[in-house]
Amino acid sequence: MSTLEIKDLHVSVATEDGPKEILKGVDLTVKAGETHAIMGPNGSGKSTLSYAVAGHPKYEVTSGTVTLDGEDVLAMSVDERARAGLFLAMQYPVEVPGVSMSNFLRTAATAVRGEAPKLRTWVKEVKESMGQLGIDPSFAERSVNEGFSGGEKKRHEILQLDLLRPKVAILDETDSGLDVDALRVVSEGVNRYREGGETGVLLITHYTRILRHITPDFVHVFAGGRVVESGGPELADVLEAEGYVKYTGTQEAGA
Ligand code: ADP
Ligand code: MG
Ligand code: MG
Repeated sequence: MSTLEIKDLHVSVATEDGPKEILKGVDLTVKAGETHAIMGPNGSGKSTLSYAVAGHPKYEVTSGTVTLDGEDVLAMSVDERARAGLFLAMQYPVEVPGVSMSNFLRTAATAVRGEAPKLRTWVKEVKESMGQLGIDPSFAERSVNEGFSGGEKKRHEILQLDLLRPKVAILDETDSGLDVDALRVVSEGVNRYREGGETGVLLITHYTRILRHITPDFVHVFAGGRVVESGGPELADVLEAEGYVKYTGTQEAGA
């Protein structure tokens, strides 16, 4: 059983005016079998948290720790993080021209599993998973994320969850830009991934609508670069009704 533990995490980003502290002491523990939702206004540092845990070079951890089952995640390369069982779906996924989806996924699976999946069973696995997610078979031959629609990028993330079976998945704004049908398919994919209770999910979102499909065990309010309140799923309903004004002091449209 896995545990991702984030302790007093401080992160700065390099700007023209020098380093700017974005995360100001984040504390969060995600255990296997738990789904945590992080909700917060735009600019509160939610994506910075996922980038920092992913090991994005632009985000400097100035203090604090991140561990997965006691192992120091911050000391790992990006590849090592994936191999250790961390999965990070980015709000703005990168495009990889010239690398087909099927090759990309097989390389990723090889890294995570420690050996290359047998080609024939792999093709079958990918096909089945794509079928469940309603992904067109031609998708497998397209370049990674190149020209993908918002919905296709999100389905691609869930396809990776299905095939790579990471220990802990961090999903940043997986719901943004999805129509109702795509949201349902993506949510079903996340719920399939949660089945069995051996995986942890950190779901970062601005809106509550995805939480009607994926019920979190815990909801955390993120404001000003840290977790300012934690509760159960009912906290999402309060946020839906009242927005983030209580935490930011300013009214934000659409929260
Ligand atoms: P959220 O995901 O909650 O909307 P972000 O983590 O994207 O918040 O951003 C938090 C703050 O950090 C914002 O004020 C944003 O402008 C700033 N920030 C994030 N990344 C960078 C960057 N690469 N350069 C400069 N400022 C950044
Ligand atoms: Mg944002
Ligand atoms: Mg964001």
